[in-house]
Amino acid sequence: MSSKLVVGVLALQGDFERHLFRLNALGVGGREIRSCEDIEGLDGLIIPGGESTTMSLLIDRFEMRGCLSQFCRQKGVWGTCAGMIMLAREIDDERVKPFGVIDIFVSRNSYGRQVHSFFADIEANLNGQIKRLKASFIRAPLILNYGSNVIVLAEYNHSPVLLYQNNCLASSFHTELDDDLTLTKYFLENFVLVYK
Ligand code: GLN
Repeated sequence: MSSKLVVGVLALQGDFERHLFRLNALGVGGREIRSCEDIEGLDGLIIPGGESTTMSLLIDRFEMRGCLSQFCRQKGVWGTCAGMIMLAREIDDERVKPFGVIDIFVSRNSYGRQVHSFFADIEANLNGQIKRLKASFIRAPLILNYGSNVIVLAEYNHSPVLLYQNNCLASSFHTELDDDLTLTKYFLENFVLVYK
């Protein structure tokens, strides 16, 4: 992977460190993003899992809504779990103000509470090849409906859990908790490099 790539991870709260480890493991420069200035020169962005109500609040408090919203409409962006919620068109919780870049209607916490977190092996269609991924669902968001521009790459229990629209990839689960770099690599090659 090109060492010239710089990919940011939104670091206002949530599970940003493990994404940075994954990027470093692939030889990509990772950068913690906490202000609009930090976004300058980035080739791509990951919005990590965490708590979307808090994340949405902090985005406004740090005056990052405008620059993040613009970045999400131009460059390769990947939202995992709470990050997926931030990319959605609509959420079933009006405290969260999403960027509206993926045409999905999302219900927060619909796979159950923290104690109901679980791992599942899912099969994803990545560039026409079926790849097995170990997915961690931690108070994960459920997609209730999606528009015709959304491409679904993996489902769990008949609901989409990995999908994209244009330059934005989203997963309702975490993959950064174990050592599998498949999805990070897929994001870099198919979103960051393509929309650079
Ligand atoms: N339930 C969280 C939310 O609504 C997301 C959980 C996660 O990111 N693991 O923001």
